Amino acid sequence: MMELFATTAFLFCAALFAFLLAINRVRLYNKLKEPNNNLCATENTCCGEIKLQNGELPAGKLPTRKPPARMPTVMPSDKKAKKVVPLSVNYHFTRKCNYKCGFCFHTAKTSFVLPLDDAKRGLELLKNAGMKKINFSGGEPFIVKKGAFVGELVKFCKQTLGVESVSIVSNGSLVSERWFEKYGEFLDILAVSCDSFDADTNEKIGRQQGQKSHLISLRSVRRLCADYKVAFKLNTVVNTHNKDENMVEEIMQLNPCRWKVFQCLLIDGENTGPDALRRAESFVITNAEFDEFLRRHKDVEYLVPESNEKVRALCLVGSYCYIRPNAVCEPEPRFS
Ligand code: SF4
Repeated sequence: MMELFATTAFLFCAALFAFLLAINRVRLYNKLKEPNNNLCATENTCCGEIKLQNGELPAGKLPTRKPPARMPTVMPSDKKAKKVVPLSVNYHFTRKCNYKCGFCFHTAKTSFVLPLDDAKRGLELLKNAGMKKINFSGGEPFIVKKGAFVGELVKFCKQTLGVESVSIVSNGSLVSERWFEKYGEFLDILAVSCDSFDADTNEKIGRQQGQKSHLISLRSVRRLCADYKVAFKLNTVVNTHNKDENMVEEIMQLNPCRWKVFQCLLIDGENTGPDALRRAESFVITNAEFDEFLRRHKDVEYLVPESNEKVRALCLVGSYCYIRPNAVCEPEPRFS
């Protein structure tokens, strides 16, 4: 009788503990995904950084799982490499894109995409090496297998690896509600490109596919992010075509958690130079023109400027580390 009582009491306590743990995880997880939760407060890369109001990483905010039984068989052999902790990773798994932006600096030089299982294996190695933030980018991430590829990677990183911040940078044109239904719960941040609220300017830049309106896609993605509690970010590249635009009103309406404003940048072999697929020289603006754009938008409190000088400095100290289909870890891209 005593044994039966002890067993019942033990099972009850275990169930209660599991229930409380689950409630706590759901609460923290939802808080983390609120659009205005000061997510991505200080990131230096395209991906988001998760920081709550006090600037500290919330402990135990994500579902944690036991480490996989199968441990990595490939580990860095170089002593120096062991010291590098890849806290924040940008994984450019494809160079293909359905847009033709004239200043694009990650052009379709190859159609190669690593098989899904290999990509997962690489991510597992990065997680074991200390990765806390992963951002998927391209090209256009949603172009591969109609978004299923990036969806599976997002799910794997969040559900299996327990990565703290999982984000995507996209042009937004191929994102569907069906994708959000299947994968939205595993995504923390979706950043969408938006250079102009004028359809003609977007056409001049190449930020659209055929006659499909980029602005309709953008607003649709904004709504989906709100519905599925995914933090929404905006990225803008200031260039000769949009440098005089005033975007304050529309940006305020979209109300992203972050608005990153980049100065158009030349990268040798990508958008300038003999091997480049794009010629971005005519898109380049001066530092003074970039500063003037920033001044015009100074009232947008969540604006984060990324001047060419700042990006170059970050590259030189190795803050930018890209994983591309045809190259691994290029901390110092060549600039013109
Ligand atoms: S949407 Fe991005 S990846 Fe596609 S062409 Fe434009 S800049 Fe390049």
